[in-house]
Amino acid sequence: MPDPPATDPPATCCEPQVPVTHSISVTTTWLARVRGVFALRSRTYLLVWLTLALAGTFAVTAWRTARVERAKVESTTCFLAADAARVLQGRSEMYLGTMTEPIFAAVGSRASLVPVTSLPPPDVLKRADAAVARCHCAPRLAVRAYFRLLAEPDGRAGTLLVIPADSGTVEDSSTTGFKDPGPSPVPFVAPDDTRLKEAVWRVMPELREGGVVAAAVTGTASGRDTLRVVAVVSPKFDANGQLRAVYGLLVTPTDFASQVVGRVFDRVPLFPQELADSSYRQRAVVWGHGGKTPNGEIANLAVFDAKYVPLHQTGPIADMAPTAPGCVGATWPEASLASIMLLVSPPLPVFDRWTANSMATEQLPFLVAILIGMLGCVGAAALAARREVELARLRSDFVSSISHELRMPLAQILLSGETLSLGRTRTQAERDDAADAIVREAHRLTGLVDNALFFSRIEHHNVRVAPERVELSQVVDEALTGIAPIAQGAEATVLNTVAAGSYAMLDRSAFRQVLYNLLENAIKYGPPGQTVLVGAAPSSTAPDRLRIWVEDEGPGIPKGQKSRIFEPFVRLERDAEMHVAGSGLGLAVVAHIVSLHDGHAWIEQGRWGKGSRFVVDIPRGGPPVDAQEFRAEESDRSDPPHHDAAD
Ligand code: ADP
Repeated sequence: MPDPPATDPPATCCEPQVPVTHSISVTTTWLARVRGVFALRSRTYLLVWLTLALAGTFAVTAWRTARVERAKVESTTCFLAADAARVLQGRSEMYLGTMTEPIFAAVGSRASLVPVTSLPPPDVLKRADAAVARCHCAPRLAVRAYFRLLAEPDGRAGTLLVIPADSGTVEDSSTTGFKDPGPSPVPFVAPDDTRLKEAVWRVMPELREGGVVAAAVTGTASGRDTLRVVAVVSPKFDANGQLRAVYGLLVTPTDFASQVVGRVFDRVPLFPQELADSSYRQRAVVWGHGGKTPNGEIANLAVFDAKYVPLHQTGPIADMAPTAPGCVGATWPEASLASIMLLVSPPLPVFDRWTANSMATEQLPFLVAILIGMLGCVGAAALAARREVELARLRSDFVSSISHELRMPLAQILLSGETLSLGRTRTQAERDDAADAIVREAHRLTGLVDNALFFSRIEHHNVRVAPERVELSQVVDEALTGIAPIAQGAEATVLNTVAAGSYAMLDRSAFRQVLYNLLENAIKYGPPGQTVLVGAAPSSTAPDRLRIWVEDEGPGIPKGQKSRIFEPFVRLERDAEMHVAGSGLGLAVVAHIVSLHDGHAWIEQGRWGKGSRFVVDIPRGGPPVDAQEFRAEESDRSDPPHHDAAD
């Protein structure tokens, strides 16, 4: 009986009916919206987006950490280079004094100087240098000339006397001018006496402090020109502290850079030893550096004059090395060191090692793996969500279609039952029809409920089969008996063409459900008055297997849907739209039961190109049966391996 139509409550003049209804409906709408936000689909998408956002933040943070770490390493190694350059400059000045002290000692110390008449000519320096060379008692400079510059009483530069290293003659250049010392192994650009005097007088402030300094002798008076010669000079004062003379040695700039600065760089460790790799330290021990890592193992040196002319270089400096960070340790041109500049590269292996060992770099593969894992999980979650949404839709379709499916036979049973009980039938034939309808619809209901129960057991992994050797045609007959009322209602002829004596290994009751479902579909989706065939034949490829089929004259299954319709709740749109009652469970149950029998199910086209043939392939029971026992027309069909392949 249809429900009575819902009637609106009577509106009276004084009740605020409209606002209440309106507010209730607004609240309901909002509730629905809020529920919508937290619905499975939105919630899953929200989670996916949230995870993606987290993964993005994670990646950006890791990248920024790596950058910060790299910048730290860079600035620390830069600082180390700057410190090394500063130390190198100081130690080079000291070393210059140590190297030249034995030579300048020949003209006495600063404190013990005598009147101007006792100032010896510069050849004493030459003899002292030769003595040092013979005794090997001090590191030597490749000296090209020796000179003495007398100071005038008024504090100006006076007479200059120069003797070349490779000539025995002593020349007074105040009258003859400076003479080229002649051919030498390294081209020696000799300055004229004016430039030499200027250069020496430029370093006077340092000379007044005493000690030894190196003056830059250039081509111009400014001292900022290309370096031509380096004059290593030592002052001599009288007892009153008055400057009386300056003794000096002339050295080529490249010799000076390599023999003074270069040697210090080679011998004095400029970087903290803890920085050196243990392998460097080991080598240092082997090569007799007293376990101290030579600077050349981890850094490079470049010496330039004030015009950036390179004088000495041990390797690429950071700015020139493509892999090195862009900073170097540099010193300002120092007047007392012939105005040369020292550049020390950052300790590159230390930079590389620190960068490689930095937390961000070390952890990078791990972080990347986590990121990939995260993205994988997000992808999987998105797929699962899609599947879940699809399932939810199918379930909801299922609920509506199963209600329809239940309602129809129930209505029919009710109608026929009432007809009988109220005695509305006039003839025996009418009474038989009503009784048949009740039986038929009850069968349909039973089939439906059996499928629902079966499916529920499948979902709970609670279906077991006990295959036994069964004569197939008997099981088919039983199924035909069960389906007969439905077939009768559709005026369909169902034929069992399975030869007697063919056996299969199957669970009788479960397989009856398989046949029932296939037959019910064949009748339901096929035209009225059609013929449905049930047949069986041994597999042409595997003699121990048997193929059983149900063939109808219906519309067939479209290509591309042939494997999908074996999934639970899936129905062809065609049938759902035409309101053909169905639950979408029948074929899922078929596929599951068949798989429990170690078999497959698939769909082929029916005979004569119309209808469909649902085939199941299961193990045969007993010895192979001659294929001629079966219908000859079946034997030339080949076995598709699986219903998936049929698509
Ligand atoms: P239903 O209860 O809808 O029949 P099934 O799982 O048995 O559920 O079948 C799934 C769908 O496959 C059906 O809805 C129908 O669209 C299609 N189908 C099944 N058998 C046949 C057939 N013999 N002929 C045409 N279509 C069929």
